Amino acid sequence: MESRNFLKNDTEFICRFCGAKVEQLGYTSRDHCNICLSSIHIDINPGDRLNTCNGLLKPIGIILNSKKTFVIQYKCQKCGKLHNNKVAKDDNYDAILALSNKTYDDYLKKL
Ligand SMILES: [Zn+2]
Ligand SMILES: [Zn+2]
Repeated sequence: MESRNFLKNDTEFICRFCGAKVEQLGYTSRDHCNICLSSIHIDINPGDRLNTCNGLLKPIGIILNSKKTFVIQYKCQKCGKLHNNKVAKDDNYDAILALSNKTYDDYLKKL
């Protein structure tokens, strides 16, 4: 189900986990690093940037949602909440594959 509260908030940022410069996505909110897939717990609803937690969201898995879109599942390393972000078109395919293979932690060591 698409949230009615979705806001477009597409800004470039420096990944807090791997240090990559992540460019604007262009078609929707850039909400995670396209290299290591890490995100920051800053949204309550997608794009609203209203969450004050600001913890590191670590990918823990990948699922196919009801619209047949791949969704990355995250767990916040600070508050422990679960969070989902849609896969972006330029996400690092190797990282997604590692996530689906449960070899993501090994993959991160090679980054
Ligand atoms: Zn990163
Ligand atoms: Zn959090």
